[in-house]
Amino acid sequence: MSAPQRRFDLPCTAIPSAWYNIAADLPVPAPPPLDPNTGKPAGPELLAPIFPMGLLQQEMSTERWIDVPGAVMEAYSLYRPSPLIRATALEKALDTPARIYYKYEGVSPAGSHKPNTAIPQAYYNKLEGVKRITTETGAGQWGCALALACSLFDVECMVYMVKVSFFQKPYRRSMMAAWGAECIASPSDTTETGRKVLAETPDTPGSLGIAISEAVEDAVGREDTKYSLGSVLNHVLLHQTIIGQEAQIQMEMAGDEPDVVIGCHGGGSNFAGLAFPYIRDKITKGKTTRIVAVEPKSCPTLTQGPLAYDYGDTGKMTPLLHMYTLGSGFVAPGIHAGGLRYHGAAPLTSHCIGQGYAEAIAVPQLETFAAAITFARSEGFIPAPESAHAICAAIREANAAKEAGEERVILFNLSGHGHFDMAAYDAYLAGQLTDIEPPAESLAGSLACLPKVDG
Ligand SMILES: *Cc1c(COP(=O)(O)O)cnc(C)c1O
Repeated sequence: MSAPQRRFDLPCTAIPSAWYNIAADLPVPAPPPLDPNTGKPAGPELLAPIFPMGLLQQEMSTERWIDVPGAVMEAYSLYRPSPLIRATALEKALDTPARIYYKYEGVSPAGSHKPNTAIPQAYYNKLEGVKRITTETGAGQWGCALALACSLFDVECMVYMVKVSFFQKPYRRSMMAAWGAECIASPSDTTETGRKVLAETPDTPGSLGIAISEAVEDAVGREDTKYSLGSVLNHVLLHQTIIGQEAQIQMEMAGDEPDVVIGCHGGGSNFAGLAFPYIRDKITKGKTTRIVAVEPKSCPTLTQGPLAYDYGDTGKMTPLLHMYTLGSGFVAPGIHAGGLRYHGAAPLTSHCIGQGYAEAIAVPQLETFAAAITFARSEGFIPAPESAHAICAAIREANAAKEAGEERVILFNLSGHGHFDMAAYDAYLAGQLTDIEPPAESLAGSLACLPKVDG
């Protein structure tokens, strides 16, 4: 008797050969980034000191398809295509009529979807003669991904790691060291921003906003150095569309089509990576797929923040981005899904939500960990706490389908494994975690500081 097929793999030769740029298909274009000094749209020259031209061109591009360079394809073929898996064991555990699928991005050497953009970013920097790349990292996944990519293309890598994670995730630091990168806790005393924050709030857990400021300051101060961002920007989301393109082919192999597509949302890159090819079908083919972004209740950017212009970092060094934001001074409580603690959101995912192509929900920490455990005990994979937010929403959908007595096809992105998050699992299983929400006055305070923009 042959087992029913659960896993849908593509041959290596079927890795999509171009990234999909949603800017080409948006009926209403997303508002451009602004130069904070003039209030006018920011041209490439504003960002040229920190990013290579190859990436800036992609950032501004409205071409629908952008070819994946050969060297990037070769690196992708280390771990791509990633598998699409039918969650039959989870379906059974939930006793649901829904059919659940997940795209598993934990198969990359760094354990998450992040190498999908780290690899092309290291490649384009190398191509333009850059010797050293700085970046920030929250939970450590992005630092690991960039450290890996820099080692593949022989570029130096300097990582500013959010302090709370620096101590929570020591083995993430070890991984970066193994790939040859340098990693320090942020805020640090090596940058002006870091020293200023430390003087004002010596006990701060740090935040992505602060770490970004430090990494940018470092890159601006050195001729041989550029900066790299692991989420939020258009070119990052572009690179991640490899996920959704593969998923569409694999769902076809499975003979199914999703009614709902789900991704966890920190800066928006893994969500966009899975969702944008499906949003394309909504725009160009009139499909009615529901697209759901899931964030933590402790950092409710998409569900409680306004869609407004704001800085991408705490030090106010970046251009103004049009996005859902809790204010660039917002510091989320130190929850265990460190990768979802960003105050802002990608302009492109914000725009898609604003235009009604996607919806957003916020889920609490305890329900999220309960979902992760249900998943681990049925499907086997131990998810990253970030990815568990998508699982949480998928389980809600499956339960709703059961209640309604209807079939529903659910596709979610399992953005990474949780092998370096076991301290968080220990804390959850010992009953030590709680549901944290930011105090209303801290939200009101950081939102009151949004920059004023005309028009
Ligand atoms: C970084 C990370 C996230 C959050 O970042 P996005 O840009 O929103 O995707 C989610 N899941 C995992 C596993 C991550 O490493």
